[in-house]
Amino acid sequence: SHYQPDAHRYSCLPYRRCGRSGLKLPAVSLGLWHNFGGVDRFENARALVRCAFDHGITHFDLANNYGPPPGSAEETFGALLAGDLKPWRDELVISTKAGYTMWPGPYGDWGSRKYLVASLDQSLRRMGLDYVDIFYHHRPDPETPLEETMAALAHIVKSGKALYVGLSNYPAELTRRAAALLRELGTPCLIHQPRYSMLDRWVEGGLLDALADEGIGGIAFSPLAQGVLTDRYFGGEIPADSRAARGAFLKPEQITAEKLALVRALNDIAAARGQKLAQMALSWLLRQPAISSVLIGASRPEQILDAVGAANAAPLAQDELAAIEALLRK
Ligand code: NDP
Repeated sequence: SHYQPDAHRYSCLPYRRCGRSGLKLPAVSLGLWHNFGGVDRFENARALVRCAFDHGITHFDLANNYGPPPGSAEETFGALLAGDLKPWRDELVISTKAGYTMWPGPYGDWGSRKYLVASLDQSLRRMGLDYVDIFYHHRPDPETPLEETMAALAHIVKSGKALYVGLSNYPAELTRRAAALLRELGTPCLIHQPRYSMLDRWVEGGLLDALADEGIGGIAFSPLAQGVLTDRYFGGEIPADSRAARGAFLKPEQITAEKLALVRALNDIAAARGQKLAQMALSWLLRQPAISSVLIGASRPEQILDAVGAANAAPLAQDELAAIEALLRK
């Protein structure tokens, strides 16, 4: 059966301007870090991407190394584009990244021009695309001059292989320096992708201010702390189909009794306002003007629907925010 996207897809989500740019992002974006690898079920990957696009999620986030094996999430997405979404390419914002270990030797990691240009070419081949919408440097490289990495990003835009560039995991001061370099090169930094959730608030120590000052949009990754900020682990056991059961990036021992107690208390606040915890955790991030979009992961379509619901929920009231703050500061 041929895929036909839902005709009502653009009435599901708000679209928020990404920094001081012309680009708007859906309040919820979908990341393909987990559940889209060669090891995962293709049918499920297809159901997730169809569900997302049918509900107005226009932005799909990838990286060279997503899988496992590395590269296979881009291959899966390429197959989904070829089978389903290619006719709607102009309605999609597709991102990829380079910065972590991708291939052996000195040219398959970090931030040289040599690595970034080659990696993006590989990503484009895996996805069957001529360009991505956003290309990111995935993490700072302490050894390569920042000037070289930023010039490589600018070159990539000028060569037509990306429309915009972004930074991920850059601390505040380095972000300001990188933004100044990119501006001089005529390719302003569109977006910054940091980890940000109720359980990891490092960005509040200067990065959000830097983004506002520089006109860079923020997109929060792991907004649900990989599932810890949901009801996923309330049953007392680690569910066999959960991220923690896989154990590669979220380890069962990270889900401590203390953390579960905090998360249950947060869940009570969410329930009192008629939301799931997963939804309140997203509403809490979306109240920040510096955050253009929350970048969720999902293992099943219902989780995407939860997030879409959050983007349409009433904003958190002052007393709710204060109650959350009191729990998080304990
Ligand atoms: P989340 O914090 O949203 O965690 C997603 C996981 O939480 C899901 O796989 C699912 O886990 C669980 N979950 C989601 N919704 C619900 C729900 N409604 N109820 C119960 N459980 C739920 O984000 P990720 O950690 O997956 O990261 C999202 C994206 O961010 C990545 O795909 C990637 O694109 C990006 N990212 C970027 C990084 C960077 O360095 N730039 C690093 C990490 C991520 P389960 O599988 O157990 O069902």
